[in-house]
Amino acid sequence: MDDRRVAVVVEDDEDIRELMVALLGQSGFEVHAAANGTDGVHAVQENDPVLVTVDLGLPDIDGYEVTRRVRRFTDAYVVMLTARNEEIDTLMGLDAGADDYLTKPFRPRELRARVEAMLRRPRITQSPAGPTVPQPAAQSPSPASAASAPAAVPPPGSGDAAAGGARPTSGPGGSASGAPSRATGGAGFTADARLVLDGLVLYPNVHHVEAEGRDVALTPTEFVLLETLLRSGRVVRSKSELTRLIRGDEPDGGTFVSESDERTVEVHVGNMRRKLGDDPRRPRWIETVRGVGYRAAGVAETSG
Ligand code: CA
Repeated sequence: MDDRRVAVVVEDDEDIRELMVALLGQSGFEVHAAANGTDGVHAVQENDPVLVTVDLGLPDIDGYEVTRRVRRFTDAYVVMLTARNEEIDTLMGLDAGADDYLTKPFRPRELRARVEAMLRRPRITQSPAGPTVPQPAAQSPSPASAASAPAAVPPPGSGDAAAGGARPTSGPGGSASGAPSRATGGAGFTADARLVLDGLVLYPNVHHVEAEGRDVALTPTEFVLLETLLRSGRVVRSKSELTRLIRGDEPDGGTFVSESDERTVEVHVGNMRRKLGDDPRRPRWIETVRGVGYRAAGVAETSG
C-alpha cells in the first residue's frame, strides 16, 4: 500500500527545480513541482506526498510559512533547502516543522542519501493536526449510521483514517473532534499498546502522544526520538546515535555525524520538550546528559 512514492518540490529557481525533479525521478518518485509557496501548499494538498522539499527563499510566502501550512495536514517528510551560512534560518525551519535540511549547493548524492534514509524509516501514520482534516464520518449523524459504524470509517491508508479512525480514544472527551471513532484498525493491530512514564503516554502503533491527558502533535522525527528514549530505559542515547536513528542508519554503526547534525538533534529535542511542556532544568520526562545526549527520566512501563 505504501509503494506509491510521491514527492513535491517547492523551488523558485528553475535550474535547481529541474535538477530536484530529475534526481527524485531517478530515485523512483512521481514528482510534482511548484515555483512558489502558495502553489506548493496546493500541490501538497492535492498529491499527498511522502516527501516535500521546500526552498527557504520563495517569491510569495517563505519556506517557513510553507512548512507551517503543510504541517497542518500532512505527515510527509519535509526537507528544507537553505543557502549557505543560514544556520539560524535552519533552526527556524526545523522549528516550523521540517524534519531535515540541506544546504545549497548540495551534491546530488547528498539528496539521494537523505531520501533513501528517509524511506528506510518506519512509516508514520499519524496526521499531526486532526481538527483541520475533514471528518467524513461526522457527516452522517443519523442514528442509522451508528448501527453500521464500520462503513463510516474511511479506508485504511487515507489521511482521514489516521486522523479520525486509528487515533486512540482515551476515555471520555479524549478526541478533539468529538467523533465517536473506534480505536482499532485492522486485525492483529493493537492500537492501545502504550509506553507510559509519569503522566506521559506514547502509543507506538498509532503514533499518538498524550501528556497529562492532553494530545501532543509531534512531527515524525520528534516521535521517533521520544519513542527511542522511552524504550531505552535509563540508558543514555548519544546525539550521534540519535542522528543515525533519524537518518535511518544503524544507531551504533560508524556513519559520520557532524556537529551540525548533532545541533539538529538538539533542536528536535528542544521542540519536542516544548510541545510536551517538559522543563529541561527540572525534567519530568527527558533528561539532558551534558556532553553526551539524552535519556528518559525514568523507566517507562510497556503495556498492550
Ligand atoms: Ca529561492
